[in-house]
Amino acid sequence: MGKVLGDLILESLVFNNYVMDETPNTPRKIKYQRPRGTYDILPEDWVYLDMILNSCQEMARFYGFQRIETPIFENAEIFTRGIGAGTDIVEKEMFLIKGGRKKPLALRPEGTAGLVRAYIEKGMGNWIKPVRLWHFGPFFRHEKPQAGRFRQFWQFGFESFGRQNPIIDAQTVQIIVNVLRKLQIKDTITHINSIGCDKCRPRYLKKLKDYLEPYREYLCLDCKKRLKSNILRTLDCKNEGCHEILANAPQTFESLCKKCRQHFKGVLEFIETLELPYELDHSLVRGLDYYNRTVFEIFAQEKDKAKIALAGGGRYDDLIDILGGNPSFACGAAVGVERVIQLMREKSVKVKKSTVPQLFLAQLGISAKREALQLFEKFRKANVLIAKDFSRDSLKSQLSKANRLGIRYVLILGQKEVLEGEIILRDMKTKTQKKIELDKVVEKVKKKIK
Ligand code: AMP
Repeated sequence: MGKVLGDLILESLVFNNYVMDETPNTPRKIKYQRPRGTYDILPEDWVYLDMILNSCQEMARFYGFQRIETPIFENAEIFTRGIGAGTDIVEKEMFLIKGGRKKPLALRPEGTAGLVRAYIEKGMGNWIKPVRLWHFGPFFRHEKPQAGRFRQFWQFGFESFGRQNPIIDAQTVQIIVNVLRKLQIKDTITHINSIGCDKCRPRYLKKLKDYLEPYREYLCLDCKKRLKSNILRTLDCKNEGCHEILANAPQTFESLCKKCRQHFKGVLEFIETLELPYELDHSLVRGLDYYNRTVFEIFAQEKDKAKIALAGGGRYDDLIDILGGNPSFACGAAVGVERVIQLMREKSVKVKKSTVPQLFLAQLGISAKREALQLFEKFRKANVLIAKDFSRDSLKSQLSKANRLGIRYVLILGQKEVLEGEIILRDMKTKTQKKIELDKVVEKVKKKIK
C-alpha cells in the first residue's frame, strides 16, 4: 500500500476517534510521606540493584557460595546476645516489635546473627565444610538521620563456616573486592586489624584501661561509659579529643597471643599474595561484640576524595557457641548497597537499560479489541516484546502513547481489518504503512524487528 493511501486510512481512523481518554492529573497536597530515613526503590534504581545482584551471583557461583535469606525479623535476643548489649546497634538503633510479647522481636539490624541462628537450626554444622553462604536483602537501624545512613538499607554478604585457616579471612576480602571490581569500583583499600581472642584480649583491655584511666575526665561522655561497658570501642570513637588521647594508646597487635599473632600474619601474607591493597589500622575494632581475631573494613579510595566505607567484616569464631550451637569457626563480611550504587552513579558506570519494546499494538472497536487481546498473547508466546494500551479506545491517543514510548512500529487493528483478516503495520519513522495477513503477522513482524 502506498504512503498516501496508508495515511488516509490512518487519518480517517484517527478522526473518528479524536476524543481524548486521558484524565488531567491535577496536583494535590501530599498527605503521607515515607518514614524518615527510608527511600523508595524506583525503576531507575532497580537497574543498579539487578547489576549488583548479578555480580554477587557470578562471584558466588565461582567461589562456591550458596544463597540464603533469613527473615527480616528475629527474636531480639539473638542480636542482644550476639552483637552485644553494650553496642550502639543494640542499645540505640534496634527497631523492636513488642506487640504484647514477653520476648520482643527485632527488625534485623545486620545479617550475621540471623544467619548463625539458621546455621544452628538447620544443622548446617553437618554440611560439607566450609559451609559457604551469601545473602542480599534489607536491614534496619534506627540511625540518626545523616547522609549515606538510612533506617532501611540493603546489604549483601558472604560468610564461611567451619574453617579456621587464615586463607578464609583473606578470601572473604578477595570476594568482596572482586564483586566491587566487577561493578567498576576498582580503587579500594582494606583496613585490617586483629583484636585477638578471649584469651589474649583481656590482657589488652587491661592495658588499655590502665592507659585511659588518667585521661577519664577528658574523654567524651560515650567513652566514659565505654570505659566500663565496652572499652574496646573507645578506639574507634570519632570525637577529636578522644582521638588525640587514643593516638598513643597501646595497640591490640602488641598483646596478641602466639596463635592469634600467627593467624594474623597468615591473613596478611595471603592478602599480599592476592595483591589486595590493605592498610594496618590499629584503631579498627568494629562495633560488634561477636568478632575475634581478624576485623576489616573496605573503603572506596578515589583520588582527591574522602574515603567511603563500603563493607565491614571479620572472624566470629565464638558466635555459634554463644547462640547455642556446637562451636565452629566463622568469617564473613557485608557490603552496603546504597553506597555502592552512589559510587556507580558518580562514576557513571554503564548499566543495562531495561528492554524497551519496538512494537505497539493499537486497536479500534470492540471486535478488534477482542482480536487484539488474542494477538497480544501470540506475541508473548513467540517471545516478542510488544506494548499496548487496551484501556484506550481512541487511536490518536494510542499512537501518541507509542510515540512517547519511542516505539517505531505500530500494528493497527480496526473492525474492517478484522473482517478482512488483515492488520496495518505502520512505521512511525518513515510514516509509511502496509497491510499484513493477520495469521502471519507474528512471524513477519518478528523477522522485521530482528
Ligand atoms: P557495618 O557492619 O555496620 O560496618 O556495615 C557494613 C556496611 O554497610 C557499611 O560499610 C556501610 O556501607 C553499610 N551500612 C551500614 N549501616 C548503614 C546505614 N544505616 N545506611 C546505609 N548503609 C549502611
